[in-house]
Amino acid sequence: MRFFVAVILAIFCVSVSAAKLTVAVTLQPYANVVSEIGGDQLEVVTLLPPGADPHTFEPKPSTLKDFAKASVYFSDGSGMDEAWLPRFKGVNKNVQIVSLSKDINWMEEDEHHHHEVESAAIHAGEKSVAEHDDHDEGEELDPHLWTSPLQMMQVARNICDALVQLDSANADLYIERWFDLTERLKKLDAELRASIAKLPQQARTFIVFHPSYGYFARDYGMTQLTVEVNGKEPKPRDLFNLAKTGKSNNVHIVFVQPQFSKRAATTIARELDAVILDTDPLSFEYEKNIRALLFAIDGNRKD
Ligand SMILES: [Zn+2]
Repeated sequence: MRFFVAVILAIFCVSVSAAKLTVAVTLQPYANVVSEIGGDQLEVVTLLPPGADPHTFEPKPSTLKDFAKASVYFSDGSGMDEAWLPRFKGVNKNVQIVSLSKDINWMEEDEHHHHEVESAAIHAGEKSVAEHDDHDEGEELDPHLWTSPLQMMQVARNICDALVQLDSANADLYIERWFDLTERLKKLDAELRASIAKLPQQARTFIVFHPSYGYFARDYGMTQLTVEVNGKEPKPRDLFNLAKTGKSNNVHIVFVQPQFSKRAATTIARELDAVILDTDPLSFEYEKNIRALLFAIDGNRKD
């Protein structure tokens, strides 16, 4: 009898753990928000491994196998998320797709930002702003929305709303954790505003290889200049122009990120007598990364 009880209990436990929601996301910073809110109640599958470049990403069979386990996919609906959707759906027909970018204040891309080696699939998946009614044709949405804590607060809200709907039994837990995360993001947002307000105008421009920080710059009154031109290595003339703009804006910091080459950024830094600093906008610990970015901007200003 005791044996049967044990068996029944074991079956019950297996079925309970199988009922745990498995959520897929593409980027590490989004995985962070989902795990912060979902805690032990969720299984998170992150499709892009740390350090990988989303612009040249091709899902491996193991990635697709992981994706097949997900019952929900939190997608920003732009860039690679959109590009790889047919492949993802091919291995997981029943996955529920939830937008994490509802009510995001989107930016259009200044320049086409993909790489020379980009895949046709990424192009095919680019969400044209023309699909939204009030924009010019051909403009594309800038996918790097997570670099602004202000936009991340909205992402967190979207994720929490969805989890409450999908798994109402744990709603209280999700709401509690969302609240804590939002408090932290509000604090980060306030820190950014206060520190940037103290920066003289000429210390508010920075150079970055790839245009990852457009939302950060827009939402916090900074200016981002990029080394990359339309997703490609700059030509000598582009470097010459950037050096000129950099000089007139008193730029002293050039950021490089692990996903891209440092060669052109090093040249420009030498021209400007600027420091080269590493940043990883795709880091799982995005709050830490944003704080480090601010610390670097503030700490290296010359005014
Ligand atoms: Zn990018």
